[in-house]
Amino acid sequence: MSTVSLWLDEPTEPLPRVAFDGSADVAVVGGGITGCACALALAEAGKRVRLFEAREIAGGASGRNGGFALRGGAAAYPVLVESIGAEATASIWRWTERELAALAALAGDAFRHTGSLRLAADDEERDELREEYDALVDAGFAAEWREDLSHPLAGRYPAALFHPPDGVLQPARLVRRIARRAAEAGVEIHEHTRISSLEDARAEVVVIATDGYPSGLLGELEGLVVPTRGQVIATEPIEEMLFELPHYGRHGFDYWHQRPDGRIVAGGFRDVSIDTEFTAEELTTPVVQDALDRFVEEHVGRPVRVDYRWAGIFGMVFDFLPVVGHAAGDDRLWMAGGYSGHGNVLGFASGRLVARAILGDRNPLLDHFEPSRLVTY
Ligand SMILES: Cc1cc2nc3c(=O)[nH]c(=O)nc-3n(C[C@H](O)[C@H](O)[C@H](O)COP(=O)(O)OP(=O)(O)OC[C@H]3O[C@@H](n4cnc5c(N)ncnc54)[C@H](O)[C@@H]3O)c2cc1C
Repeated sequence: MSTVSLWLDEPTEPLPRVAFDGSADVAVVGGGITGCACALALAEAGKRVRLFEAREIAGGASGRNGGFALRGGAAAYPVLVESIGAEATASIWRWTERELAALAALAGDAFRHTGSLRLAADDEERDELREEYDALVDAGFAAEWREDLSHPLAGRYPAALFHPPDGVLQPARLVRRIARRAAEAGVEIHEHTRISSLEDARAEVVVIATDGYPSGLLGELEGLVVPTRGQVIATEPIEEMLFELPHYGRHGFDYWHQRPDGRIVAGGFRDVSIDTEFTAEELTTPVVQDALDRFVEEHVGRPVRVDYRWAGIFGMVFDFLPVVGHAAGDDRLWMAGGYSGHGNVLGFASGRLVARAILGDRNPLLDHFEPSRLVTY
């Protein structure tokens, strides 16, 4: 049984070596989806970029997540409308749809377009999902309402909301691929290099792209994107194909899907031990792992061997909006993170948003993602 994630267990080739003298235009700290997407966009625009990763590329949440590539964000559509208004919510969702398409174009076989199925676990959640479906359709987004669910969902879930643009990733393969593209575009990548002061980054501008992993570089913002642990299992391949597309229920607490080889990947159940899971310790625990085992067994109808068990850390934020912009009032310091467990597409998109802003093209969406809101809250 492996405690390396299924995704990071896939063999990979070393990255091309790039080295340049002197200071860089931009240093990126963090080699996940955010940092790699940001570095690639900057290098393609001609900037001299260094990227530093304390472990290996995709070694953080980007290589340890559930693999869902979803539009939108961690808050349900109507909840976001209530907090920032209909127009701003629609702009954010449209932006994530465009970025999801851009991610898919870069990903090659690391992305499969399947759609995703958001399930209601009870009648209360059914009503919430129905409200979200109505709001999405009213705003002109593609969405489908489903009540006639097939085995093994029938009888367990009263209804589901299908999101047509979504898909599923091999997330480590995706991020390694983006890192390779970045190196080919001239980014000097330093793996196994932890940055402990901004001076060590040797650059005019520094981007902190560490999401839930405490970097020690964010001053008063440190810890306000709250480190939160997610745990995942991957089973042996099974013959029957039950969950071809991403499934998620109980307000996103549980998520699962099946790989083309028949392995079931299932994550979540933080709420069985909610207090212990606000931590940056990347460890699995018996109570959450047992809940995942039981969940899979119940849905498959028999015990299934588990081949992989792993944990990762993501950054949680009180209002479920990404945290992207200048940090600590310093014009030379940027941060992007705080995707509240929804960072595959949002991380890619936010890394590119920061890159474009550094290049002088600031997107007004950044007004909604302002980091200083965390300090004043
Ligand atoms: C178990 C789990 C399941 C998830 N499932 C999904 C999902 O299905 N769909 C989805 O959209 N999102 C999901 N997420 C969230 C998503 O994985 C993250 O939001 C996203 O990967 C964040 O990417 P990132 O590049 O910003 O950060 P990360 O990938 O976490 O990378 C940050 C990196 O920064 C490095 N670092 C930190 N400090 C320093 C330093 N001082 N110097 C150098 N390097 C440093 C760390 O080593 C780390 O590798 C999940 C997360 C977890 C943990």
